[in-house]
Amino acid sequence: MGKSLGLYIHIPFCAAKCAYCDFYSLPHSEAKMDAYVGALCRHLRTFAPRAADYTVDTVYFGGGTPSYLGAERLTAVLDTVTSCFHMDPRAEITLEANPDSACADLSALRRAGFNRVSLGVQSSDDHMLRRIGRIHTWAQVRQAVDAIRDAGFDNLSLDLIYGLPEQTMEQWQRTLSDAVSLAPDHVSAYGLKLEPGTPLWRRQTQLTFPDDDQQAEMYLNAVTFFAKNGYFQYEISNFARPGFASRHNLKYWRLEEYAGFGPGAHSDFGGVRYAAARDLDGYIAGRAVLSERTVITPAERAREYVMLSLRTAEGLSPAVLEGQYGVSFAPLEALMRTYQAHALAEPVETGWCLTPRGFLVSNAIIGQLLDALDGEETD
Ligand code: SF4
Repeated sequence: MGKSLGLYIHIPFCAAKCAYCDFYSLPHSEAKMDAYVGALCRHLRTFAPRAADYTVDTVYFGGGTPSYLGAERLTAVLDTVTSCFHMDPRAEITLEANPDSACADLSALRRAGFNRVSLGVQSSDDHMLRRIGRIHTWAQVRQAVDAIRDAGFDNLSLDLIYGLPEQTMEQWQRTLSDAVSLAPDHVSAYGLKLEPGTPLWRRQTQLTFPDDDQQAEMYLNAVTFFAKNGYFQYEISNFARPGFASRHNLKYWRLEEYAGFGPGAHSDFGGVRYAAARDLDGYIAGRAVLSERTVITPAERAREYVMLSLRTAEGLSPAVLEGQYGVSFAPLEALMRTYQAHALAEPVETGWCLTPRGFLVSNAIIGQLLDALDGEETD
């Protein structure tokens, strides 16, 4: 068994653009989707020899709306993966799906090897779904969940968003309990970010959004609600029943290697971080231009370790920081104790992690810790 590798496969097509979204996704045509699948398979085959020493233990089809591609094309891409790479037989293979396109041919996808579905839900309120440009209803969410379970998927994640326009705490609580009533194995709950240029951003003056304090309350409410219902918070925005944390996403937070395929996809492979340009036609034509390419130095890796480990419940381990990244924990310790005194951080078995209140101000905390590391380096 060699080193492990995660594969991210980007599917940049959506049925319609949601009002808050700035992901790289485009309207589809059948011909373009066929051409794209051909380009992806060629790219996977060309890349695979570079990963000959690796075992692929996670594959994540993200988007866009991967379910929109249809079972036949998705199966063709996954078959290319499994025939070109050395696969872990227990690999986690995730398909992101939207309720309006999830139901067709799910059994075929399960047979093809997909074993996890991440369903975009966002809210259980039909008015809210329309307001934010989602093209499905809550009833379609319930149908999709039934269809996913009937097809034999025993690992289902739901995505939710809080801080939506005109959203009240009561509405958010209803979304939480409606979501949990569907018995998912995993839930992601993200705060709305108004991304410049999106329709919601342009309409922001005509709408009322929960303020920072209300968003914080919604977040803490979700943390408590999920804990009461048996979902362990393993990352700032992610909650899972025991054994169902997303193995693919954990790779990002643990600084493990992954390779991305498709326009806009990021990779961290062989010590180099790179991203493909957001250019679908260029990608289809075989011009997979890299938009960024950075060789990560050991000092940068140490900073990333501090940043990413503190997003997780595993937390920051002084032994890992010193043993693996060669950086002393000493300059961070006093700060950690101050955060502990303010109930923002707590010691755990392996080191230190942030509390839910600490997660709310994690950007500020991580900034201070990185400044302390920099101060040490320049002394
Ligand atoms: S379905 Fe997802 S990727 Fe597509 S527009 Fe909506 S939020 Fe963006």
